[in-house]
Amino acid sequence: MAQTEALFRDDAYMREGAARVIGINDRGGILLDRTMFYATSGGQPGDTGRFIREDGSIIQIAATVTGETNDEIVHVPAAEQVLPEMGETLQLAIDWERRFKLMRMHTACHLLSVICPFPITGASVNEADSRVDFDLPDASVTKEEVSARLMDLVNGEHPVFTRWISEEDLEANPNLVKSKNVRPPRGTGRIRLVCIGNEASIDSQPCGGTHVANTAEVGEIHIGKIEKKGRENRRFRIRFGSLPAN
Ligand SMILES: [Zn+2]
Repeated sequence: MAQTEALFRDDAYMREGAARVIGINDRGGILLDRTMFYATSGGQPGDTGRFIREDGSIIQIAATVTGETNDEIVHVPAAEQVLPEMGETLQLAIDWERRFKLMRMHTACHLLSVICPFPITGASVNEADSRVDFDLPDASVTKEEVSARLMDLVNGEHPVFTRWISEEDLEANPNLVKSKNVRPPRGTGRIRLVCIGNEASIDSQPCGGTHVANTAEVGEIHIGKIEKKGRENRRFRIRFGSLPAN
């Protein structure tokens, strides 16, 4: 199938650029030779934005999803958009305000997994409220404590970066994987690690999402709620802003 260069993997801060149409699927989804639009996966929603045609007309993109394989990135136009031609060059622009919030929230989820080193059973990143579910029978932590420790990591201004390791390296270090149910994709020979701190001193874990480059960019966050989800699960909700006093 069509191969798309995933520009967001090397540069999460790329907001716009040119790309060529290499396919239109039977549902009107647009495939490009390269894109900075992130496709929904790993708990992070795909990007929205717009394509600008040579004549200046605009195609609104309502969602970005994966296709038949995880490598296939499908840009889904909003209703009643005119589709581009095969081979046409488009100027792409993601909805950066939304994406940057998702990058901040996604990075906050990694920080939470540092503070709560328990197996992760689920996670969902959203603009206003993100959640991480842990296999944790006894929630002996409070939202006040966890919020304070999250802000210590944010204020520590730690670098966030990616590096690639081989599947054999991951095999030799199974502790890197924090998700209980989701295994990193195999078969390509290499795994993308997201690392926090100098020399990855704070954390490293396999992840294909987009993150900020420094924990300081996460900004003010807090734990809004710790909910009980079944006998062995606790759901932590991360929100922007400081912990409300009550
Ligand atoms: Zn991540």
